[in-house]
Amino acid sequence: MTQADTLIHAGHIIPVVPRGEVLENHSLAIADGRISAILPREQAQTITAAEVLDLPGHALFPGFVNSHGHAAMSLLRGYADDLALMPWLEEHIWPLEMQHASAEFVRDGAELAIAEMLRAGTTCFSDMYFFPNVVADVAQQVGVRCQLSFPIFDFPSAWGADSDDYISKGLALRDDHKHSELLQVVFGPHAPYTVNPAALGKVAMLAAELDLPIHIHLHETAREIEDSLAEHGQRPLARLYELGLIGPRTQCVHMTSVEEDEIALLAEVGAHVIHCPESNMKLASGRCPVPALLAAGVNVALGTDSAASNNDLSLPGEMRSAALLAKHGEGDATALPAATVLEMATINGARAMGLQEDIGSLEVGKLADLVAVDFAQPETQPLYNPVSQLVYATDAEQVTHSWVAGKALLAERRLLSLDLDDVLTRANRWAKTIVSG
Ligand SMILES: [Zn+2]
Repeated sequence: MTQADTLIHAGHIIPVVPRGEVLENHSLAIADGRISAILPREQAQTITAAEVLDLPGHALFPGFVNSHGHAAMSLLRGYADDLALMPWLEEHIWPLEMQHASAEFVRDGAELAIAEMLRAGTTCFSDMYFFPNVVADVAQQVGVRCQLSFPIFDFPSAWGADSDDYISKGLALRDDHKHSELLQVVFGPHAPYTVNPAALGKVAMLAAELDLPIHIHLHETAREIEDSLAEHGQRPLARLYELGLIGPRTQCVHMTSVEEDEIALLAEVGAHVIHCPESNMKLASGRCPVPALLAAGVNVALGTDSAASNNDLSLPGEMRSAALLAKHGEGDATALPAATVLEMATINGARAMGLQEDIGSLEVGKLADLVAVDFAQPETQPLYNPVSQLVYATDAEQVTHSWVAGKALLAERRLLSLDLDDVLTRANRWAKTIVSG
């Protein structure tokens, strides 16, 4: 007999690695926060566990990795819709953030976002926003995994005065959480057009020295590229490459315009692309050429961006959108199959963050970051292909359970480490404050 903390008997297990594999009637054991066994159910009698869960109509898979977002902006969901990126930011979002984005705003917004993400199967999210120290505390308290890209801008906010100030506050935050098992603090220069070249160069140097990822909005719109050509005579990617910012730990968010030589460059240096299809469609920003990037060997992960430009934080929805957008855009129904999209939402996100040895797939020895969905619902019956079903038919509301490092955070759709009523009350209080100016 072997001992485990938790033993889950599942109708199906989708481990993601190897690609497309589905295990029927298997069991997964968790011990000391890690996956200690995955085996046919009839062999699981050799394992005793403190907690045993029978989920015959469910599928277990690695928790989603939401590779790009701004959690606190959930408080601005639906506040200014149907606008292009720059007028949306310049006339609505930035002025409002100058007025309201305090530590309390960030705490309440992050809790709202995390509640939604956990209930949609996300167990690890990337965040870029003011007061990342507050998001760090919230994530730690709730027990969810998080990559905090501390924001760097030239302009002041309630959290920082200028690029140097943002960088020093960010590095202090990184020191505070250097040994955290849940948090990873990385550089988050907002975009090539909001951070001066000297500060970008400094980020490149420090990131190389500390071996830390860089998370940056890049090639989000055609206008960003036109402006860069007019001002610097270069496309943003080439400019950042010259500044030393594009390398194997760089996460390039959006990339809606990528020329052939740029695909080759990204592949050669091993940079990662974070695709945010719904935000790109909603802001009419453009379309990231995902199939071409993947074919060249570029790692492409998936993100929702904020709820203010999406307007939800559901990875099941984002996977479907990514698949449909690629097929529609390429005029090719074979573009971006379900198994590939599922990799983008799990192992590719882990890879972008440098966490692929620990999360992103269900393999013995990895951390037990996993999720169960209830397939025994009319939306997902009958069941021919669990991977297809997960990508094309599963709704976020079918997510029933989740665990991070073996700790249960969601059970029967109930959040175990967040008071949902309280979170919703505070979110509504903010809406009233914002509307009253
Ligand atoms: Zn963004």
